[in-house]
Amino acid sequence: MRKFLIIAFILSVLPSFSSASDVKLLISGAEEKVEAFKKNDIHYVSFSEIVELVGGTLDWKILGHTIEFVEDTNHFSFVIGSPYIERNDSLFNMTYPALYKKGKLFVPTETFIRYWDEVILQKVIWDSESKTIRINSEYFNVTDISCSKKANGLLIEVFLTSALAYDVFVTEGNWINISIRDGIMNRSQIQSRMNSRLMYKLKTHQQNTTGQVSIRLKRKVDKWHHKFQSNPPRIQISISDTDFEMDPIDTHPTIGPDTKIDVIVIDAGHGGRDYGAIGQKNLREKDVSLGIAKELAKMIRKDKQFKVIMTRDRDKTMTLEERAKIANESSCDLFISIHANASPKKHVRGWNVFFLAQARNDSARSVAQFENSVFLRDQAPESTIDEAPMVDYNDPILGIINEMIMTEFQMESHDFAIMVDREFRKQLKIPSRGVDQAGFFVLNKVYAPSVLLEVGFITNKQEEKLLKTKKYQKSVAKAVYNSIKRFKSKYESN
Ligand SMILES: [Zn+2]
Repeated sequence: MRKFLIIAFILSVLPSFSSASDVKLLISGAEEKVEAFKKNDIHYVSFSEIVELVGGTLDWKILGHTIEFVEDTNHFSFVIGSPYIERNDSLFNMTYPALYKKGKLFVPTETFIRYWDEVILQKVIWDSESKTIRINSEYFNVTDISCSKKANGLLIEVFLTSALAYDVFVTEGNWINISIRDGIMNRSQIQSRMNSRLMYKLKTHQQNTTGQVSIRLKRKVDKWHHKFQSNPPRIQISISDTDFEMDPIDTHPTIGPDTKIDVIVIDAGHGGRDYGAIGQKNLREKDVSLGIAKELAKMIRKDKQFKVIMTRDRDKTMTLEERAKIANESSCDLFISIHANASPKKHVRGWNVFFLAQARNDSARSVAQFENSVFLRDQAPESTIDEAPMVDYNDPILGIINEMIMTEFQMESHDFAIMVDREFRKQLKIPSRGVDQAGFFVLNKVYAPSVLLEVGFITNKQEEKLLKTKKYQKSVAKAVYNSIKRFKSKYESN
Protein backbone atom coordinates (compact mmCIF):
# COMPACT_ATOMS: atom_id res chain seq x y z
CA MET A 1 0.00 0.00 0.00
CA ARG A 2 1.12 3.52 -0.60
CA LYS A 3 2.58 5.56 2.15
CA PHE A 4 0.90 8.57 3.54
CA LEU A 5 2.59 11.19 5.53
CA ILE A 6 0.51 13.53 7.52
CA ILE A 7 1.93 16.41 9.41
CA ALA A 8 -0.69 18.32 11.25
CA PHE A 9 -0.68 21.55 13.10
CA ILE A 10 -3.61 22.58 15.18
CA LEU A 11 -4.45 25.83 16.83
CA SER A 12 -8.17 26.15 16.34
CA VAL A 13 -10.89 25.44 18.83
CA LEU A 14 -13.89 24.06 17.09
CA PRO A 15 -17.63 24.42 17.29
CA SER A 16 -19.97 21.60 18.22
CA PHE A 17 -21.14 19.05 15.70
CA SER A 18 -24.41 17.32 15.07
CA SER A 19 -25.50 13.78 14.10
CA ALA A 20 -22.52 11.42 14.25
CA SER A 21 -22.67 8.43 11.89
CA ASP A 22 -20.19 6.15 10.23
CA VAL A 23 -19.53 5.58 6.56
CA LYS A 24 -18.42 2.36 4.92
CA LEU A 25 -15.00 2.27 3.34
CA LEU A 26 -14.51 -0.46 0.75
CA ILE A 27 -10.88 -1.03 -0.10
CA SER A 28 -10.70 -3.48 -3.01
CA GLY A 29 -13.68 -5.33 -1.56
CA ALA A 30 -12.75 -5.30 2.15
CA GLU A 31 -15.16 -3.33 4.31
CA GLU A 32 -14.14 -0.91 7.08
CA LYS A 33 -15.92 1.73 9.12
CA VAL A 34 -14.86 5.35 9.22
CA GLU A 35 -16.13 8.12 11.48
CA ALA A 36 -18.31 10.70 9.79
CA PHE A 37 -20.83 13.39 10.69
CA LYS A 38 -23.02 16.04 9.20
CA LYS A 39 -22.56 19.68 9.93
CA ASN A 40 -24.97 22.25 8.45
CA ASP A 41 -26.09 19.42 6.15
CA ILE A 42 -22.58 18.90 4.79
CA HIS A 43 -21.21 15.40 5.05
CA TYR A 44 -17.75 15.16 6.63
CA VAL A 45 -15.49 12.12 6.89
CA SER A 46 -12.38 11.49 8.97
CA PHE A 47 -9.52 11.67 6.52
CA SER A 48 -7.14 10.70 9.34
CA GLU A 49 -8.92 7.35 9.66
CA ILE A 50 -8.98 6.74 5.90
CA VAL A 51 -5.26 7.33 5.72
CA GLU A 52 -4.65 4.84 8.53
CA LEU A 53 -6.87 2.21 6.91
CA VAL A 54 -5.16 2.34 3.55
CA GLY A 55 -1.87 1.56 5.26
CA GLY A 56 -0.37 5.01 5.71
CA THR A 57 1.46 6.62 8.57
CA LEU A 58 0.38 9.60 10.60
CA ASP A 59 2.93 12.05 11.80
CA TRP A 60 1.56 14.93 13.84
CA LYS A 61 3.66 17.96 14.53
CA ILE A 62 2.21 21.01 16.19
CA LEU A 63 3.68 24.01 14.46
CA GLY A 64 0.92 26.04 12.90
CA HIS A 65 -2.49 25.18 11.58
CA THR A 66 -1.90 23.55 8.22
CA ILE A 67 -1.99 19.82 7.65
CA GLU A 68 0.15 18.22 5.00
CA PHE A 69 -0.34 14.95 3.26
CA VAL A 70 2.09 13.53 0.72
CA GLU A 71 1.09 10.67 -1.50
CA ASP A 72 3.55 9.54 -4.17
CA THR A 73 4.52 12.72 -5.97
CA ASN A 74 1.29 14.41 -4.95
CA HIS A 75 1.19 16.80 -2.09
CA PHE A 76 -1.91 18.10 -0.35
CA SER A 77 -2.01 20.85 2.18
CA PHE A 78 -5.07 21.61 4.32
CA VAL A 79 -5.78 24.52 6.59
CA ILE A 80 -8.18 23.93 9.46
CA GLY A 81 -11.21 26.18 8.98
CA SER A 82 -10.44 26.87 5.33
CA PRO A 83 -12.00 25.34 2.20
CA TYR A 84 -8.75 25.80 0.26
CA ILE A 85 -6.46 22.87 -0.36
CA GLU A 86 -3.18 23.13 -2.08
CA ARG A 87 -2.46 20.26 -4.41
CA ASN A 88 1.09 20.28 -5.64
CA ASP A 89 1.43 23.91 -6.72
CA SER A 90 -2.22 24.65 -7.35
CA LEU A 91 -4.91 25.92 -5.06
CA PHE A 92 -8.35 24.27 -5.05
CA ASN A 93 -11.56 25.11 -3.27
CA MET A 94 -13.38 22.23 -1.52
CA THR A 95 -16.34 24.64 -1.00
CA TYR A 96 -16.55 23.67 2.68
CA PRO A 97 -13.77 24.04 5.25
CA ALA A 98 -11.52 21.29 6.59
CA LEU A 99 -12.36 20.63 10.24
CA TYR A 100 -10.52 19.42 13.30
CA LYS A 101 -12.25 17.18 15.85
CA LYS A 102 -10.75 15.06 18.62
CA GLY A 103 -7.30 14.90 17.08
CA LYS A 104 -8.55 14.09 13.61
CA LEU A 105 -8.77 15.90 10.30
CA PHE A 106 -12.22 15.88 8.72
CA VAL A 107 -12.85 16.77 5.10
CA PRO A 108 -16.10 17.48 3.23
CA THR A 109 -16.60 14.01 1.76
CA GLU A 110 -18.05 14.75 -1.63
CA THR A 111 -15.99 17.76 -2.62
CA PHE A 112 -12.70 16.41 -1.32
CA ILE A 113 -12.98 12.88 -2.76
CA ARG A 114 -13.36 14.47 -6.19
CA TYR A 115 -9.93 16.10 -5.95
CA TRP A 116 -8.34 13.04 -4.41
CA ASP A 117 -9.65 10.77 -7.12
CA GLU A 118 -8.10 12.92 -9.83
CA VAL A 119 -4.56 12.19 -8.70
CA ILE A 120 -4.51 8.91 -6.79
CA LEU A 121 -3.56 5.76 -8.68
CA GLN A 122 -6.48 3.98 -7.11
CA LYS A 123 -9.96 4.95 -8.15
CA VAL A 124 -11.88 6.60 -5.31
CA ILE A 125 -15.66 6.89 -5.50
CA TRP A 126 -18.08 8.37 -2.99
CA ASP A 127 -21.60 6.98 -3.07
CA SER A 128 -23.75 9.31 -0.99
CA GLU A 129 -26.81 7.03 -1.23
CA SER A 130 -25.20 4.05 0.47
CA LYS A 131 -22.73 6.23 2.43
CA THR A 132 -19.85 4.29 0.97
CA ILE A 133 -16.38 5.27 -0.19
CA ARG A 134 -14.91 2.80 -2.64
CA ILE A 135 -11.18 2.64 -3.19
CA ASN A 136 -10.48 0.47 -6.16
CA SER A 137 -6.89 -0.56 -6.70
CA GLU A 138 -7.67 -1.64 -10.25
CA TYR A 139 -7.13 1.71 -11.83
CA PHE A 140 -5.66 1.96 -15.27
CA ASN A 141 -2.72 4.01 -16.45
CA VAL A 142 -2.35 2.20 -19.78
CA THR A 143 -5.67 3.16 -21.26
CA ASP A 144 -5.80 2.30 -24.96
CA ILE A 145 -3.88 1.51 -28.13
CA SER A 146 -4.25 2.32 -31.79
CA CYS A 147 -2.77 0.74 -34.88
CA SER A 148 -3.00 2.50 -38.22
CA LYS A 149 -1.55 2.29 -41.68
CA LYS A 150 0.61 5.19 -42.84
CA ALA A 151 2.07 5.96 -46.27
CA ASN A 152 5.45 4.51 -45.34
CA GLY A 153 4.46 1.83 -42.89
CA LEU A 154 2.51 1.19 -39.72
CA LEU A 155 2.04 3.35 -36.63
CA ILE A 156 1.22 1.76 -33.28
CA GLU A 157 0.41 4.00 -30.33
CA VAL A 158 0.00 2.96 -26.70
CA PHE A 159 -1.80 5.58 -24.62
CA LEU A 160 -0.80 6.21 -21.01
CA THR A 161 -2.03 8.57 -18.33
CA SER A 162 1.52 9.72 -17.58
CA ALA A 163 5.12 8.96 -18.48
CA LEU A 164 6.11 5.38 -17.57
CA ALA A 165 9.29 3.42 -18.17
CA TYR A 166 8.82 0.98 -21.03
CA ASP A 167 10.56 -1.44 -23.39
CA VAL A 168 9.72 -2.31 -26.98
CA PHE A 169 11.03 -5.56 -28.42
CA VAL A 170 10.33 -7.83 -31.37
CA THR A 171 10.12 -11.59 -30.99
CA GLU A 172 9.97 -14.56 -33.42
CA GLY A 173 6.84 -14.65 -35.58
CA ASN A 174 6.51 -10.86 -36.09
CA TRP A 175 5.40 -10.18 -32.57
CA ILE A 176 5.97 -6.65 -31.40
CA ASN A 177 5.86 -6.34 -27.62
CA ILE A 178 5.50 -3.22 -25.52
CA SER A 179 6.29 -3.83 -21.87
CA ILE A 180 5.35 -1.02 -19.47
CA ARG A 181 6.75 -0.84 -15.96
CA ASP A 182 4.17 0.15 -13.34
CA GLY A 183 1.61 -0.12 -16.13
CA ILE A 184 -1.93 -1.12 -15.20
CA MET A 185 -3.77 -1.87 -18.40
CA ASN A 186 -7.39 -1.38 -19.33
CA ARG A 187 -7.30 -4.80 -20.93
CA SER A 188 -10.80 -4.94 -22.36
CA GLN A 189 -10.34 -1.56 -24.04
CA ILE A 190 -6.98 -2.58 -25.50
CA GLN A 191 -8.26 -6.00 -26.70
CA SER A 192 -11.14 -4.27 -28.46
CA ARG A 193 -8.56 -2.77 -30.88
CA MET A 194 -7.93 -6.13 -32.57
CA ASN A 195 -7.83 -5.40 -36.29
CA SER A 196 -7.73 -8.46 -38.52
CA ARG A 197 -6.56 -6.46 -41.54
CA LEU A 198 -3.31 -5.60 -39.80
CA MET A 199 -2.74 -8.26 -37.16
CA TYR A 200 -3.18 -11.94 -36.46
CA LYS A 201 -3.36 -11.53 -32.72
CA LEU A 202 -3.50 -8.95 -29.98
CA LYS A 203 -2.65 -10.00 -26.45
CA THR A 204 -2.36 -8.25 -23.11
CA HIS A 205 -0.44 -9.56 -20.09
CA GLN A 206 -0.68 -8.09 -16.65
CA GLN A 207 1.92 -9.39 -14.25
CA ASN A 208 1.89 -7.57 -10.94
CA THR A 209 2.81 -4.04 -11.84
CA THR A 210 4.11 -4.70 -15.33
CA GLY A 211 1.74 -4.53 -18.25
CA GLN A 212 2.57 -5.88 -21.68
CA VAL A 213 0.82 -5.50 -25.00
CA SER A 214 1.85 -7.99 -27.69
CA ILE A 215 0.74 -7.74 -31.29
CA ARG A 216 1.38 -10.36 -33.94
CA LEU A 217 1.51 -8.41 -37.15
CA LYS A 218 0.68 -9.60 -40.65
CA ARG A 219 3.88 -8.08 -41.95
CA LYS A 220 7.55 -8.51 -41.39
CA VAL A 221 8.97 -6.34 -38.64
CA ASP A 222 12.54 -5.46 -39.40
CA LYS A 223 12.82 -1.68 -39.38
CA TRP A 224 11.17 0.01 -36.45
CA HIS A 225 11.59 2.95 -34.09
CA HIS A 226 9.91 3.92 -30.90
CA LYS A 227 9.49 7.23 -29.16
CA PHE A 228 7.65 8.63 -26.15
CA GLN A 229 5.34 11.52 -26.95
CA SER A 230 3.51 13.82 -24.57
CA ASN A 231 0.14 15.49 -25.05
CA PRO A 232 -1.40 12.99 -24.71
CA PRO A 233 1.27 10.77 -23.15
CA ARG A 234 1.82 7.81 -25.49
CA ILE A 235 4.40 5.41 -26.83
CA GLN A 236 4.72 5.56 -30.61
CA ILE A 237 6.15 2.70 -32.58
CA SER A 238 6.75 3.25 -36.28
CA ILE A 239 7.32 0.17 -38.38
CA SER A 240 8.54 1.06 -41.84
CA ASP A 241 7.75 -0.85 -44.97
CA THR A 242 10.89 -2.43 -46.31
CA ASP A 243 10.09 -0.83 -49.66
CA PHE A 244 9.94 2.64 -48.17
CA GLU A 245 12.72 4.66 -46.68
CA MET A 246 11.52 6.24 -43.45
CA ASP A 247 12.77 9.31 -41.65
CA PRO A 248 14.63 8.12 -38.60
CA ILE A 249 13.05 9.41 -35.41
CA ASP A 250 15.36 11.46 -33.26
CA THR A 251 18.67 9.95 -34.18
CA HIS A 252 20.28 13.21 -33.20
CA PRO A 253 17.96 15.18 -30.96
CA THR A 254 18.69 18.81 -30.27
CA ILE A 255 17.89 20.63 -27.08
CA GLY A 256 17.00 24.21 -26.31
CA PRO A 257 16.30 26.96 -28.83
CA ASP A 258 19.60 26.54 -30.66
CA THR A 259 21.60 23.49 -31.60
CA LYS A 260 24.54 24.27 -29.33
CA ILE A 261 24.95 22.75 -25.90
CA ASP A 262 26.75 25.53 -24.14
CA VAL A 263 24.63 26.96 -21.32
CA ILE A 264 24.92 25.05 -18.05
CA VAL A 265 23.00 25.98 -14.91
CA ILE A 266 24.43 24.77 -11.61
CA ASP A 267 22.00 24.73 -8.72
CA ALA A 268 23.58 24.53 -5.28
CA GLY A 269 20.84 22.93 -3.17
CA HIS A 270 19.32 24.80 -0.19
CA GLY A 271 21.00 27.94 1.22
CA GLY A 272 20.34 30.78 3.64
CA ARG A 273 17.79 29.84 6.27
CA ASP A 274 17.36 26.45 4.60
CA TYR A 275 20.33 24.40 5.84
CA GLY A 276 19.32 21.17 4.09
CA ALA A 277 20.46 18.05 5.94
CA ILE A 278 22.90 18.31 8.84
CA GLY A 279 25.65 15.85 9.74
CA GLN A 280 26.59 14.40 13.13
CA LYS A 281 29.51 16.85 13.26
CA ASN A 282 27.20 19.69 12.19
CA LEU A 283 28.29 19.85 8.55
CA ARG A 284 25.49 21.55 6.64
CA GLU A 285 24.22 20.35 3.27
CA LYS A 286 23.91 23.94 2.01
CA ASP A 287 27.67 24.46 2.46
CA VAL A 288 28.60 21.18 0.76
CA SER A 289 26.36 21.87 -2.22
CA LEU A 290 27.76 25.39 -2.60
CA GLY A 291 31.36 24.16 -2.30
CA ILE A 292 30.87 21.64 -5.09
CA ALA A 293 28.86 24.06 -7.22
CA LYS A 294 31.69 26.62 -7.03
CA GLU A 295 34.35 24.05 -7.92
CA LEU A 296 32.26 22.87 -10.86
CA ALA A 297 31.60 26.41 -12.09
CA LYS A 298 35.32 27.20 -11.92
CA MET A 299 36.18 24.07 -13.88
CA ILE A 300 33.61 24.67 -16.61
CA ARG A 301 34.46 28.37 -16.91
CA LYS A 302 38.03 27.50 -17.84
CA ASP A 303 36.56 25.68 -20.82
CA LYS A 304 35.57 28.60 -23.05
CA GLN A 305 32.98 26.63 -25.01
CA PHE A 306 30.53 26.79 -22.08
CA LYS A 307 28.63 29.51 -20.29
CA VAL A 308 27.94 28.81 -16.61
CA ILE A 309 25.12 30.22 -14.54
CA MET A 310 24.79 29.51 -10.82
CA THR A 311 21.40 29.76 -9.13
CA ARG A 312 23.35 30.96 -6.09
CA ASP A 313 27.07 31.61 -5.54
CA ARG A 314 26.78 32.49 -1.87
CA ASP A 315 24.80 31.55 1.25
CA LYS A 316 21.37 32.76 0.21
CA THR A 317 17.76 31.59 0.62
CA MET A 318 16.27 30.72 -2.76
CA THR A 319 12.74 29.66 -3.61
CA LEU A 320 11.84 27.02 -6.12
CA GLU A 321 10.49 29.68 -8.48
CA GLU A 322 13.68 31.75 -8.31
CA ARG A 323 15.82 28.74 -9.19
CA ALA A 324 13.58 27.74 -12.09
CA LYS A 325 13.39 31.31 -13.36
CA ILE A 326 17.17 31.57 -13.58
CA ALA A 327 17.30 28.30 -15.50
CA ASN A 328 14.46 29.06 -17.88
CA GLU A 329 15.48 32.64 -18.64
CA SER A 330 18.98 31.48 -19.54
CA SER A 331 17.54 28.87 -21.97
CA CYS A 332 19.99 26.44 -20.46
CA ASP A 333 20.89 23.15 -22.09
CA LEU A 334 21.54 21.32 -18.82
CA PHE A 335 20.41 21.87 -15.25
CA ILE A 336 22.39 20.25 -12.45
CA SER A 337 21.13 20.40 -8.87
CA ILE A 338 23.66 19.44 -6.19
CA HIS A 339 22.70 17.92 -2.83
CA ALA A 340 23.88 15.63 -0.05
CA ASN A 341 21.65 12.86 1.20
CA ALA A 342 20.39 12.12 4.73
CA SER A 343 19.04 9.07 6.48
CA PRO A 344 17.94 8.31 10.06
CA LYS A 345 20.06 5.16 9.66
CA LYS A 346 23.59 6.42 10.27
CA HIS A 347 25.26 3.52 8.45
CA VAL A 348 23.57 4.30 5.12
CA ARG A 349 26.07 5.69 2.62
CA GLY A 350 26.81 6.21 -1.07
CA TRP A 351 25.93 8.57 -3.89
CA ASN A 352 22.90 8.67 -6.16
CA VAL A 353 22.09 10.28 -9.50
CA PHE A 354 18.43 11.18 -9.97
CA PHE A 355 16.42 12.29 -12.96
CA LEU A 356 12.82 13.45 -13.00
CA ALA A 357 10.14 10.79 -13.35
CA GLN A 358 7.65 9.00 -11.15
CA ALA A 359 9.49 7.36 -8.27
CA ARG A 360 9.71 3.60 -8.64
CA ASN A 361 10.56 2.71 -5.05
CA ASP A 362 10.19 3.98 -1.49
CA SER A 363 13.83 4.90 -1.12
CA ALA A 364 13.81 7.21 -4.16
CA ARG A 365 10.44 8.58 -3.08
CA SER A 366 11.73 9.45 0.38
CA VAL A 367 14.71 11.35 -1.06
CA ALA A 368 12.32 13.40 -3.20
CA GLN A 369 10.04 13.97 -0.21
CA PHE A 370 12.92 15.30 1.83
CA GLU A 371 14.23 17.59 -0.91
CA ASN A 372 10.71 18.79 -1.75
CA SER A 373 9.73 19.42 1.86
CA VAL A 374 11.86 22.56 1.99
CA PHE A 375 9.88 24.15 -0.80
CA LEU A 376 6.59 23.06 0.73
CA ARG A 377 7.57 24.68 4.01
CA ASP A 378 8.33 27.90 2.11
CA GLN A 379 4.81 27.96 0.80
CA ALA A 380 3.06 27.41 4.14
CA PRO A 381 0.99 30.42 5.03
CA GLU A 382 2.73 32.37 7.74
CA SER A 383 -0.25 34.27 9.01
CA THR A 384 -3.91 33.49 8.50
CA ILE A 385 -5.87 31.99 5.67
CA ASP A 386 -7.59 35.33 5.07
CA GLU A 387 -4.37 36.48 3.53
CA ALA A 388 -4.24 33.58 1.09
CA PRO A 389 -3.30 34.81 -2.40
CA MET A 390 -6.23 35.83 -4.56
CA VAL A 391 -4.57 34.52 -7.71
CA ASP A 392 -6.38 31.79 -9.57
CA TYR A 393 -4.00 28.90 -9.18
CA ASN A 394 -6.57 26.54 -10.58
CA ASP A 395 -5.00 26.79 -14.01
CA PRO A 396 -5.09 23.56 -16.02
CA ILE A 397 -2.42 24.88 -18.39
CA LEU A 398 0.15 24.85 -15.58
CA GLY A 399 -0.55 21.18 -14.98
CA ILE A 400 -0.09 20.39 -18.65
CA ILE A 401 3.18 22.31 -18.76
CA ASN A 402 4.49 20.39 -15.73
CA GLU A 403 3.54 17.15 -17.42
CA MET A 404 5.25 18.23 -20.62
CA ILE A 405 8.44 19.15 -18.83
CA MET A 406 8.41 15.83 -17.06
CA THR A 407 8.27 13.86 -20.29
CA GLU A 408 9.89 16.23 -22.79
CA PHE A 409 13.46 15.82 -21.61
CA GLN A 410 13.18 12.47 -19.88
CA MET A 411 15.25 10.60 -22.40
CA GLU A 412 18.09 13.16 -22.40
CA SER A 413 17.96 13.52 -18.60
CA HIS A 414 18.17 9.78 -18.17
CA ASP A 415 21.04 9.63 -20.61
CA PHE A 416 22.91 12.39 -18.82
CA ALA A 417 22.26 10.67 -15.46
CA ILE A 418 23.90 7.54 -16.84
CA MET A 419 26.91 9.56 -17.99
CA VAL A 420 27.30 11.09 -14.51
CA ASP A 421 26.88 7.67 -12.93
CA ARG A 422 29.68 6.31 -15.09
CA GLU A 423 32.02 9.18 -14.16
CA PHE A 424 31.14 8.96 -10.46
CA ARG A 425 32.03 5.26 -10.48
CA LYS A 426 35.43 6.20 -11.86
CA GLN A 427 36.12 9.22 -9.67
CA LEU A 428 34.45 8.66 -6.31
CA LYS A 429 35.74 6.34 -3.65
CA ILE A 430 32.39 5.79 -1.92
CA PRO A 431 29.73 3.18 -2.78
CA SER A 432 27.35 3.70 -5.66
CA ARG A 433 23.58 3.67 -5.22
CA GLY A 434 23.27 4.23 -8.96
CA VAL A 435 20.78 6.03 -11.17
CA ASP A 436 17.22 6.40 -9.94
CA GLN A 437 14.13 8.44 -10.68
CA ALA A 438 11.77 10.49 -8.53
CA GLY A 439 9.52 13.52 -8.61
CA PHE A 440 11.69 16.45 -7.60
CA PHE A 441 9.89 19.79 -7.66
CA VAL A 442 13.01 21.73 -8.59
CA LEU A 443 13.51 19.66 -11.75
CA ASN A 444 9.84 19.76 -12.64
CA LYS A 445 9.97 23.50 -13.33
CA VAL A 446 13.06 23.58 -15.49
CA TYR A 447 12.60 23.37 -19.21
CA ALA A 448 15.81 21.50 -19.97
CA PRO A 449 17.42 18.11 -19.38
CA SER A 450 18.17 17.98 -15.68
CA VAL A 451 19.58 15.81 -12.91
CA LEU A 452 19.73 15.99 -9.14
CA LEU A 453 22.89 14.65 -7.54
CA GLU A 454 23.03 13.29 -4.00
CA VAL A 455 26.80 13.18 -3.66
CA GLY A 456 26.98 11.24 -0.39
CA PHE A 457 25.30 10.87 3.01
CA ILE A 458 25.94 13.75 5.34
CA THR A 459 24.42 11.65 8.13
CA ASN A 460 27.14 9.02 7.75
CA LYS A 461 30.24 9.87 9.81
CA GLN A 462 32.80 8.77 7.21
CA GLU A 463 31.03 10.50 4.35
CA GLU A 464 30.42 13.66 6.34
CA LYS A 465 34.16 13.89 6.85
CA LEU A 466 34.75 13.31 3.14
CA LEU A 467 32.06 15.74 1.95
CA LYS A 468 33.76 18.50 3.89
CA THR A 469 37.09 18.15 2.05
CA LYS A 470 38.04 20.23 -1.00
CA LYS A 471 39.53 17.08 -2.49
CA TYR A 472 36.24 15.21 -2.53
CA GLN A 473 34.31 18.28 -3.69
CA LYS A 474 36.78 18.64 -6.56
CA SER A 475 36.47 15.02 -7.61
CA VAL A 476 32.68 15.32 -7.73
CA ALA A 477 33.04 18.49 -9.83
CA LYS A 478 35.52 16.78 -12.16
CA ALA A 479 33.17 13.84 -12.73
CA VAL A 480 30.24 16.14 -13.51
CA TYR A 481 32.40 18.27 -15.83
CA ASN A 482 33.49 15.16 -17.77
CA SER A 483 29.86 14.12 -18.11
CA ILE A 484 28.89 17.54 -19.46
CA LYS A 485 31.55 17.19 -22.15
CA ARG A 486 30.28 13.72 -23.06
CA PHE A 487 26.73 15.02 -23.22
CA LYS A 488 27.77 17.89 -25.48
CA SER A 489 29.57 15.63 -27.90
CA LYS A 490 26.62 13.26 -28.09
CA TYR A 491 23.76 15.74 -28.42
CA GLU A 492 25.20 18.73 -30.18
CA SER A 493 24.42 19.00 -33.88
CA ASN A 494 27.13 20.28 -36.11
ZN1 LIG B 1 19.15 18.61 -0.52
